Amino acid sequence: MLNDKKFKSLLDHIDVGVIIVDGNYEIVHANPNAKEYLGEMIIGRPIYNIIRNDEVIDMINDQKDINKLFQFTTSAERIIEVLHVQKNVKIGYVILKDKSKEVAFENIRRELVANVSHELRSPLTTISGFIETLQNEELEKDQLKRFLNIMQEEANRMSRIVSDLLSLSKIEINLYSRPKEKINIINEVKIAIDALEIVALESQKKIKLDVSEDIFFTKVIGDSDEIVEVFHNLIENAIKYSFSKTDIDVLVYLEDANLCVEISNMGHGIPDEHIPRVTERFYRVDKARSRDIGGTGLGLAIVKNILLRHDAKLFISSVLNEKTTFKVSFPC
Ligand code: ADP
Repeated sequence: MLNDKKFKSLLDHIDVGVIIVDGNYEIVHANPNAKEYLGEMIIGRPIYNIIRNDEVIDMINDQKDINKLFQFTTSAERIIEVLHVQKNVKIGYVILKDKSKEVAFENIRRELVANVSHELRSPLTTISGFIETLQNEELEKDQLKRFLNIMQEEANRMSRIVSDLLSLSKIEINLYSRPKEKINIINEVKIAIDALEIVALESQKKIKLDVSEDIFFTKVIGDSDEIVEVFHNLIENAIKYSFSKTDIDVLVYLEDANLCVEISNMGHGIPDEHIPRVTERFYRVDKARSRDIGGTGLGLAIVKNILLRHDAKLFISSVLNEKTTFKVSFPC
């Protein structure tokens, strides 16, 4: 049967892994998927050395077929599900499916739900604590005003988290559809700067834009609103995390075949070990500081996802207590 070309070709093309064992449980054939899951060198080895699992040992001892699903982790940390095992005296087969992506996805989903619940619970707890105080105590006018202000701030924070989450999920829905508009980037940078100029002035900061002349006729493919959101988030962070009375520098220039936008600020900076993680959802270097200045921990996750959709890259460099630069590079 194993010499049958058609049968082998069928095994080569199905999207599950298939292992065939002989009467001694030695693997005599594995299709490409099974070799990819378990390694190229599995032919000739006993199945119980490859899938070290009680169910497989029971099958060998009891000569029973297994219809119950079970999972095992390979030495390369892949999670493989065994869909079916069948064995008689002379021959048997095992059908496998790689579940690593699904398990990873499920873990991310679970972590996100836990994070969202946690992030929303803390402002909720504050608000309900104050409501209880207001219900039970006679307060002076000043104190009442202060409590109401705190409640308002916390409610605003919840609303920012929810709107950032909605923004993130909208981007994720479109993640694999490429944008089609041709945009000029400088317009998008200017829209973001105009919207934030007043915020910068409030802490006596100035946003300085420097555009190199050779880019005026360069266009990139992109979604204008999303690109404005990228620069809005990056410039807003530069304002939030910079020392007071400093400048935020925005440079737009061409580098090889890429249009680059650099946003730099002088501030505490980001320690090297945190740099790879700051684009994760809800990741903050200093939670308390981010919270005090109204952060949600979602801004850079939004930036990362928008840039992914645009095939653009983000580079972060930071010298502690000096300059931090976020550089975005678009193919053009
Ligand atoms: P947040 O809402 O907390 O600002 P972000 O996703 O925008 O969330 O950023 C994640 C974290 O990255 C921030 O909490 C902060 O610790 C760090 N960060 C972002 N931009 C800067 C910057 N320009 N300088 C220093 N740290 C920054």
